[in-house]
Amino acid sequence: MPSRNDTYTGLRAYIEQLPVIDCHEHALGPEAAPDNREPIAYLIQGYMQSDLWSAVWPGWPDDAPGIWDDLNNHDIPTEQKWPLFERIWRLTEHTGYARVSKRILAEQFAEPQLTLAALQRIRGRLPDLRDPAVYAGILDRANIRCRLVNTWPDLKAYLDGAHRTYERDRFMIPLPGFHSVRSWQQVWNNASLVAARVTTLDDYVAACREAFRRMQKRGAAGMKDQSAYERTLAFGNPSHAEAEALFNRIAADPRAALGWPEAKSLQDYLFHRFMETARDLDMPVQLHTGHMAGIRNDIAKTNAVHLIPLLELHRDVRFDLFHGNWPYMGEYLYLGKNYPNVHLDLCWLPIIDPVYATNLLSEGLTAVPHSKFHAFGGDYFDSILHAVAHLSIARDVVAAALAERVDAGWIDRGEAERIAADWLHNNPNDYFRLGFPAV
Ligand SMILES: [Zn+2]
Repeated sequence: MPSRNDTYTGLRAYIEQLPVIDCHEHALGPEAAPDNREPIAYLIQGYMQSDLWSAVWPGWPDDAPGIWDDLNNHDIPTEQKWPLFERIWRLTEHTGYARVSKRILAEQFAEPQLTLAALQRIRGRLPDLRDPAVYAGILDRANIRCRLVNTWPDLKAYLDGAHRTYERDRFMIPLPGFHSVRSWQQVWNNASLVAARVTTLDDYVAACREAFRRMQKRGAAGMKDQSAYERTLAFGNPSHAEAEALFNRIAADPRAALGWPEAKSLQDYLFHRFMETARDLDMPVQLHTGHMAGIRNDIAKTNAVHLIPLLELHRDVRFDLFHGNWPYMGEYLYLGKNYPNVHLDLCWLPIIDPVYATNLLSEGLTAVPHSKFHAFGGDYFDSILHAVAHLSIARDVVAAALAERVDAGWIDRGEAERIAADWLHNNPNDYFRLGFPAV
């Protein structure tokens, strides 16, 4: 993490001016930006909510029913929220998520402390992110050159050209809805994207492939899958007959629905077929691994080590594994080192656990080819000051990791600068074939 020595300070200044490929956002553009009017609701957007929930023990605060809705309500005055918010905030204000809120205050509003007085001072100064010039200006100042976005537009509108991806962004195909099918209506809706009339499993696979092909023609840069929130990353390799039996059950009765894990063989089969499409279209596949947003999910099912059979079978598919696989760092470095078709994408990680992220890059530099790391993805929606504050923390993390290696004599300062440029820009630029000039 940031230290005050000259190596760190010099590198951090260099890294501040590097352009960045933001490898993962959920942003749609200024038209989807929130109408921010109240500072507490504004500052706690995104992941901060998870830490607030985690800090509050069951049943507390029982003196404030509806507290979470109220804190997020822009129409409730700051002064009314403050007494209870302050009690909860003080329980968790030192996490990476909370640091995002503090950094917005410090870097955007020159307020070093989160106090009621500071919130009152910034209340009338919250930027209107719905203004396209304001929105673009914030991204420009942060030097975010391109964002890979995982959004959920009307896919028919996307294929028809009626939904336009924001000018700076590249669309990633949202994959879970295509393989997590449990009912005939889902099959029908997906096949309808390409006006296909499906009656068999093979028809459905063909329809999805056609939809992906057309999305790529519309500009999609890859596929994104976060089904680890709902299921294990241990994809089996079921036979066509096993998958077909499940498919035919929902085909035979549109009112039937498959449960979980009953549906697993069908979903696993479809996932493999879609990996073949990714290979044929030469599209990278971004996979969620490790920690999940929210609270009370099961981490064991999301350990990237479960992916080994998938990675070994699909040698020609380029897998971009997300989030540092937190908290399973050793497995993550091993996968990056061991498989040519795996890259390591640290999106979201610098605010989940900045010390882990620093250690991962510092240790990773000596263990894994440095060409395989993608250092930043903000992973926010359209509250873009949060993504920008996250980027500021990520620049700290990159500088700290490289300064550690410079001070240990492993690399020199010039090498550190080139690695930083690769991690933040050149590696993802090449990997996703974005076509920007190298830095
Ligand atoms: Zn995300």
